[in-house]
Amino acid sequence: MPVAAGNPRHGTPSLAVFGAVPRFSRQLHVGAPNVVDPEAFIQRLRRIFDRNRLTNGGPEERELEQVIAERVGVRHCIAVVNATTALQILCRALDWHGQVIVPSFTFVGTAHALAWLGIQPVFCDVDPDTHNIDPRLVEDLITERTTGILGVHLWGRPCDVDALQRIATERKLDLVFDAAHAWGCSSGSTPIGRFGRAEVFSFHATKWVHAFEGGAIATDDDELAKRCAAIKRFGFVGYDRTSTLGINGTMSEAAAAMGLVSLKTEGPILQRNRANFEAYAEGLRRLPGVRIVQPTAENRWHYHYVVLEIDETVAPLHRDLLQRVLWEERVLARRYFYPGCHRLEPYRGVGTHRPLPVTERLAHRTLALPTGLQMEPHEAASVCELVHTAFEHAAAVRKGLPELPPIEWHEPA
Ligand SMILES: *Cc1c(COP(=O)(O)O)cnc(C)c1O
Repeated sequence: MPVAAGNPRHGTPSLAVFGAVPRFSRQLHVGAPNVVDPEAFIQRLRRIFDRNRLTNGGPEERELEQVIAERVGVRHCIAVVNATTALQILCRALDWHGQVIVPSFTFVGTAHALAWLGIQPVFCDVDPDTHNIDPRLVEDLITERTTGILGVHLWGRPCDVDALQRIATERKLDLVFDAAHAWGCSSGSTPIGRFGRAEVFSFHATKWVHAFEGGAIATDDDELAKRCAAIKRFGFVGYDRTSTLGINGTMSEAAAAMGLVSLKTEGPILQRNRANFEAYAEGLRRLPGVRIVQPTAENRWHYHYVVLEIDETVAPLHRDLLQRVLWEERVLARRYFYPGCHRLEPYRGVGTHRPLPVTERLAHRTLALPTGLQMEPHEAASVCELVHTAFEHAAAVRKGLPELPPIEWHEPA
């Protein structure tokens, strides 16, 4: 429950940065886990113990793969321990090497998956409206060392899949998508998971549907699926025969059970996400220089990412100051994806890359707000009130917080 903010000194805005009682009595996290039915999970766990089959392609993992393949409408789903490993397995199965074109405005795990395999991520700028890799810029980055294009459906909003596919086909490159954000989303009437050679989902606890930790490769390509399945299990193709270099990417039965329960309880999560999103959208509508990343009418969306773009040339407060104000209120808003992969180690200053003006701008403007089952729409409205108050008293906030002390990070999940 929100706590009424105090007003310790006359004329001081009632914000925690000025000594008022924080608006929330608990911390609100971006990506707090959604757990609807723990009992159903515990029942599945009991069955797992009864069978005494804990991993290595047990019935939970197989059922999860079936459910995902059916939902997406692909012939094959390979469940994997997490999406980062899934991306790596897929890269190896495609024999990617040299360079792969990827956006910089994404979670650093996307780039790490490539670099871990010795592949150079070549960072491409994004479209200012969609925040997704800009197909108009991809062509220019293709060299004789390029082996693939890795798009990311950022926030669960689809990449320009047709334009990317045209380039990939024309230049004989493999196109793959990091769909870690995009479970349950679509591009038009086609579910995400059906594009490119393959797509990779994440079921990490911070995603709206999760398996504690988990990932999955979705593909219609029989040969590719076979290779991924082998690589995932140490390269085994028979009882004691290996076909290739493999790794252990198996998802445990417990994780798969959580994934199955999570998938069955999507309804109430989606409903809450949507209600929270609408409260945010309404509450932030009239703020100068603030844009909320909206769903597109023709695509299905999960409303899991509440992302603001704060234009510092119009808004009275810079994104970073607003974040500071919100943290003091226990609203742990995050600067996704600051500062862009190209400015993070080990990519910073390595080689040269094209200027990424849109990525740079977005990295300084975007702020993700908490949502999900941890909170109610009236609390989202309360967060909006805090933003309004901060904007009204922007001069005082700027004066009171001239230099930003570093924000301490607490792991949300
Ligand atoms: C979460 C995430 C990943 C990594 O997923 P894991 O399952 O945690 O390995 C990769 N890419 C993006 C865009 C993500 O958000």
